[in-house]
Amino acid sequence: MRLIATEEAFAPREYIDAFLKLSANLDTPVSRYLAIYYGKAEAVRQLTDLEYRLAEMDRFGVDMHLLSITGPGVQFFDAGFGAELAALANDHLADAIRRHPARYAGLGAVAPQDPNAAAREVTRAVAELGLNGIIINSHTHGEYLDDPKFWPIFEALVAHDVPLYLHPTFPPDAHIEPYSHYGMMGALWGFGAETSLHAVRLIMGGVFDAFPGLKVVLGHMGEAIPFWLGRLDNRYANIVRRGGLEPLGMKKLERLPSEYFTTNFWVTTSGMNTNPPLEFCLGMLGEDRVMWAIDYPYEQTAEAVPFIRNAPLSEAVMKKLTHANAESLFRIAPAG
Ligand code: MN
Repeated sequence: MRLIATEEAFAPREYIDAFLKLSANLDTPVSRYLAIYYGKAEAVRQLTDLEYRLAEMDRFGVDMHLLSITGPGVQFFDAGFGAELAALANDHLADAIRRHPARYAGLGAVAPQDPNAAAREVTRAVAELGLNGIIINSHTHGEYLDDPKFWPIFEALVAHDVPLYLHPTFPPDAHIEPYSHYGMMGALWGFGAETSLHAVRLIMGGVFDAFPGLKVVLGHMGEAIPFWLGRLDNRYANIVRRGGLEPLGMKKLERLPSEYFTTNFWVTTSGMNTNPPLEFCLGMLGEDRVMWAIDYPYEQTAEAVPFIRNAPLSEAVMKKLTHANAESLFRIAPAG
């Protein structure tokens, strides 16, 4: 059974160096967090050396990594440097895929700081470099993609029919303070809270009424949103009934919030290696919208592979989760 892992991090050396340089001049919870992850030679090698991980993939029978740039993303920087790093990362990625077409596919990075330039980079990444979609690491200096100024990016994604992987990053400065205690700003809690906020903003902001063909992927079993779908619908309908849309500055949506989630979104298992949330996501979203992921190198291949291999799924569903859904969504050629 072909195994395609769909949220696998990499980084060009220049990108890691840029964050280390930034962290060296700062002492904030985020800079301390980055130093823990990027300050270790083994972690940096896992991210930057695209030959190194192949041995681990082989050892556990992982056929392919769908690579994407690691957090916090190129939008951490100013527009010019962000775009430069994104282009460099995309070229680096395309090179690795050319060297190992059976082992790697990849998502291009873009810097939303300049939405029109980002839209052009979507086109270059997909049409010229042959990448399989785009990753954006959540907010851009505290701004979210429901803001229409970013919509040229969605136009380009829909025009090329490729998905956006909305990946976590730290909450923005405006609301990071309560997350900055007890190490909660990162993957432990802040990442999921930030990314689910972003995804719900896309839904409530009417993005999918404007772009019905837009495809969005969330990691970590949907960043808890599958659990909230009934609540989102119930509260939205309740506000509509009370005449609250206008006073609360809300959009009149064409469909219920959950309907966008179950038609425009896909989720991956990245770092969530237990059966109850998997079964729950399958129940809420159906078998065509869930894909397996490791979240290498932050999560362990040694845990993610036995989890999916032993998951209580029929052979048909197993096929979809391990590779068929990824092949169809990311247009990855079936194994020859
Ligand atoms: Mn990840």
